[in-house]
Amino acid sequence: MLEKNNQTVYVNGEFFSKKEASISVFDRGFLFSDSVYEVTAVLDGKLVDWKEHFARLIRSLGHLNIENNFQEEDFYQIQRKLINENQLKEGLCYVQVTRGIAERDFNFAKKSLLPTVVIFTQEKQILKNAASKVGVKIITVPDDRWRRRDIKTTQLLAQSLAKTHAVQEGVDDSLLVQGGFINEGSSSNVFIFKDERIITPSLSNDILGGITRSSVIKFCQINNIEIKEQKINIDDLMNAQEVFLTSATGFVLPVIEVNGRRVGNGLVGDTVKKIQHIYVEQIKAKLF
Ligand code: PMP
Repeated sequence: MLEKNNQTVYVNGEFFSKKEASISVFDRGFLFSDSVYEVTAVLDGKLVDWKEHFARLIRSLGHLNIENNFQEEDFYQIQRKLINENQLKEGLCYVQVTRGIAERDFNFAKKSLLPTVVIFTQEKQILKNAASKVGVKIITVPDDRWRRRDIKTTQLLAQSLAKTHAVQEGVDDSLLVQGGFINEGSSSNVFIFKDERIITPSLSNDILGGITRSSVIKFCQINNIEIKEQKINIDDLMNAQEVFLTSATGFVLPVIEVNGRRVGNGLVGDTVKKIQHIYVEQIKAKLF
């Protein structure tokens, strides 16, 4: 990943250099993880599925009763400005919104707080990422997160620990398992291909409703590829012909090994290759 120090960052109505951008130590995002975020991919300097990401941001804010002072167009214009200023061609745009600044207190009911909004970009090769060609290796770990995983909060410690553990074990990522069922990846949704159909866990509070997940489901339906939303247990996973992960930060990533065992013949499968192709074609046709 390329890092640049002269990048511009948006904080509460103003643009700063990365070095100078800052927020209060009394921000509830810092003290309580009382905050939500969105990450949207950027291709050819344009946003992928921006409307869908904005809609999920509004939903996350609504679930936590965090005030929203922004219209879609406001966020869109700030992101466009950052993408232009940071000369971002391919990568990610993060929008982070916290409940705001207050004296440290669990109870925020009587406070009328002004949300903190931070937006920044990050360069990343998503299309040419080696993992999307050669696939990734994963392990399963217990899902230690809180119960409202459908809200995209910045409480990412369990996911961060799961990912770090995977890398320390010599693989790429972890799948989070609860009661014998696979929920999702540390920062992605999971799909398997088995008995001529694709399966992904149905939406519930146990997983994040990924924007990439819903695009893949839609594109499969349009292309007459059979897809089902239902629970996936460990046996289903271990006996799948193909496994893949979806996210805005990786698009469609083939999985070639689970818990030290090859998936299928250990090579990237034809179904996932087809879905990768369809996915990239379709999103390129509607960039913002
Ligand atoms: N699940 C989790 C836990 C995630 O963190 C992410 C990525 N933010 C996803 C799924 C994928 O969601 P999306 O396709 O919207 O990036």
